[in-house]
Amino acid sequence: MQKKELLDKLAEKISVCERCPLYETALNPVPGEGNINAAIVFIGEAPGATEDKLGRPFVGRAGNLLNELLEKIGMKREDVWIGNIIKHRPPNNRQPQPNEITACDPFLTVQLKAINPKLVVTLGRFAMYYFYKDGKISRDHGNLIRSDKGFYVYPVYHPAAALRKGDFKQALEEDFLRIPQVLKQIDIEKNKIISSSEEEKGQLKLKI
Ligand code: URA
Repeated sequence: MQKKELLDKLAEKISVCERCPLYETALNPVPGEGNINAAIVFIGEAPGATEDKLGRPFVGRAGNLLNELLEKIGMKREDVWIGNIIKHRPPNNRQPQPNEITACDPFLTVQLKAINPKLVVTLGRFAMYYFYKDGKISRDHGNLIRSDKGFYVYPVYHPAAALRKGDFKQALEEDFLRIPQVLKQIDIEKNKIISSSEEEKGQLKLKI
């Protein structure tokens, strides 16, 4: 199956999902959207009120900040893919519960496998925990992590938290400005991994 067809089919499954009770109170599912061939995927926590109304991720105030930050690194929403760990809005924007995260997990797993991004930028602590359960956002934001799910993960503060607190906004902007450099760092790390495995096999040739 082609990538687009698979992701469209998955979005249909999300739209009829009853794996946890969130579908009962949500207005619309928010499966995620964007460039399915993107190098960078942004993963947030769960839809808020505006996202629930429109069925699209990060289209409220936090989304406006995300758009501004993308612009600062020369990118547009259309260049990246944006999704959440939870696909239906939790009532009154309460924190996602462990059973809801577990219920939604297979959807994000398939989405990430299909898109296979070079970098996953997690927005906020819940998205970070999904990839790195021992993470601490105040310590780990702005650090590149190789997650045991097999992705390079770059945790940053959630844009909604940044809108509430100036210190978080400054840290979020600084971490965002480093994203182009982080992409280069991943290329260097991948090259190192390839050349050391070639070295092990004795396949490296000295070119003079
Ligand atoms: N906050 C999130 O975590 N996700 C959204 O889609 C919107 C706000």
